[in-house]
Amino acid sequence: MQMYDYLIVGAGLFGCVFAHEATKKGKKCLVVDKRDHVGGNVYCENVDGINVHKYGAHIFHTNDKDIWDYVNQFAEFNNYVNSPVSISKGKLYNLPFNMNTFYQLWGTKTPEEAKTIIESQIKEFGCKNPENLEEQALSLIGKDVYETLIKEYTEKQWGKKATELPAFIIKRLPVRYTFNNNYFNDAYQGIPIGGYNKIIDGLLEGIDIKTNVDFFKDKDALSSLAKKIVFTGKIDEFYDYNYGNLEYRSLRFENTKLNTENFQGNAVVNYNDSNVPYTRIIEHKHFEFGKQKHTVITKEFSEQWTTEKEAYYPINNEENQKKYQAYKALSLQEPDVIFGGRLAEYKYYDMHQIIASALQKTKKEFN
Ligand code: FAD
Ligand code: UDP
Repeated sequence: MQMYDYLIVGAGLFGCVFAHEATKKGKKCLVVDKRDHVGGNVYCENVDGINVHKYGAHIFHTNDKDIWDYVNQFAEFNNYVNSPVSISKGKLYNLPFNMNTFYQLWGTKTPEEAKTIIESQIKEFGCKNPENLEEQALSLIGKDVYETLIKEYTEKQWGKKATELPAFIIKRLPVRYTFNNNYFNDAYQGIPIGGYNKIIDGLLEGIDIKTNVDFFKDKDALSSLAKKIVFTGKIDEFYDYNYGNLEYRSLRFENTKLNTENFQGNAVVNYNDSNVPYTRIIEHKHFEFGKQKHTVITKEFSEQWTTEKEAYYPINNEENQKKYQAYKALSLQEPDVIFGGRLAEYKYYDMHQIIASALQKTKKEFN
């Protein structure tokens, strides 16, 4: 009955890269996903000629030439550089935190002027070992930037106080003393021309796929189809919430098509203020420099996660990490299941990190 070498649960980037590499090694794979499409969170929906990033804005960036070459096998990338702006108390600021932001905040024109203010605020706070996101932000960039551009956005995004969140989250954002609005420090960045589906279709070419299939609804029958399982869903669900739920943050997306050419002049506009219910508005055409007469915008609302909702972000605080370690210990006892991806590893991975991790796991499996 074992028609396949691998049953791959989840057609996100991790599952697709694993399936592709296994197929190259002559293995037979079946990829299943509970959604009605493949691609996981990088999936794009074409709405009247505009690639809408259905599960939130996705910008590919990496410092690793091998990963860049890997994705470029499947699609050509444009030269889009992510430069979001943030609106706070009616004023607009450049992100990430750079000389433009500092000028907008204080009118400082030289790195020395900006550094003097930031360093005096960091000194005033005087924290040596930041233990949470608030402490980390205050010791990285000072009080003014924290209060204008971080605190309210962060608490809206995570539904928790910044003092209850892990410090590493804020280290995702660069701080620089140059007039450079590039959100990432990586050497390679862009959007695949024609959308992310091109990469997914390339990865899955010639591989058996079944959508609208929830692994947990037919676990035994599906498992019996293959010698091994690659699981990219939620690790706590895999173990029937044995040690209790891991916490996630969910999102709700509100899409609107508008008969206007250019709604906000940028792909990503963040809204810091707590009285604005969404965290950001995405105008998708700007990812591909679209010239259409219409536009599609998405308001992104951050929401409390429940088991019926999509889990988008792991909440990697101490309590959840402890629980995750207990699940991980169970997973290490499974000779025939490979766990990978954002949900199965409960990790705030970006796309390039997911690809690197899937390639590493295939290497381990086949070498
Ligand atoms: P997923 O894409 O989540 O795929 C997992 C798949 O498994 C899903 O399709 C799901 O339906 C399926 N599945 C789960 N359980 C089951 C089950 N029981 N049965 C069958 N199928 C199941 N990264 C970047 O590099 N740049 C960005 O700009 C960026 N922006 C992001 C914005 C948002 C809002 C979010 C949420 C993420 C962003 N990311 C970004 C991260 C990126 O989405 C992930 O790194 C990557 O897509 C994760 O791939 P994955 O395969 O691990 O998971
Ligand atoms: N962040 C912030 N203000 C912003 C943008 C981001 O305070 O305008 C913080 C917030 O805590 C967020 C984290 O930085 O969760 C990481 O932001 P990023 O844009 O990398 O998040 P993602 O795109 O993964 O949601």
